[in-house]
Amino acid sequence: MSSVFFSRLSASGTTSSALAQRLAPPQKKKLSWFVIILIILLFSFIKPTFSLGTVILIGLIVIVPIKIWFTYYNTMIYPKQMNKWRSTWYCATCGAVSVISLD
Ligand SMILES: [Zn+2]
Repeated sequence: MSSVFFSRLSASGTTSSALAQRLAPPQKKKLSWFVIILIILLFSFIKPTFSLGTVILIGLIVIVPIKIWFTYYNTMIYPKQMNKWRSTWYCATCGAVSVISLD
């Protein structure tokens, strides 16, 4: 990486984060236990009268569709995005981002 690259990245906060985001590889979506526990806690906070079973059931109703979407994304969309990312090249000299087909 050249110094030009770094100077461009640090030039402006908004631009650099947008650029860094554009250059970063796509991430697989993962549902963390922290989020699940947070959702369950949120429901038990809103309705303290709910039994633990109800809270868990509501939690599952929220989590299952998210989990299905994440699984769909990881198996169907993520590989395509990763392929596109692999064929995307960033020019540190002029800052151009180009997609080069490797097929
Ligand atoms: Zn260039």
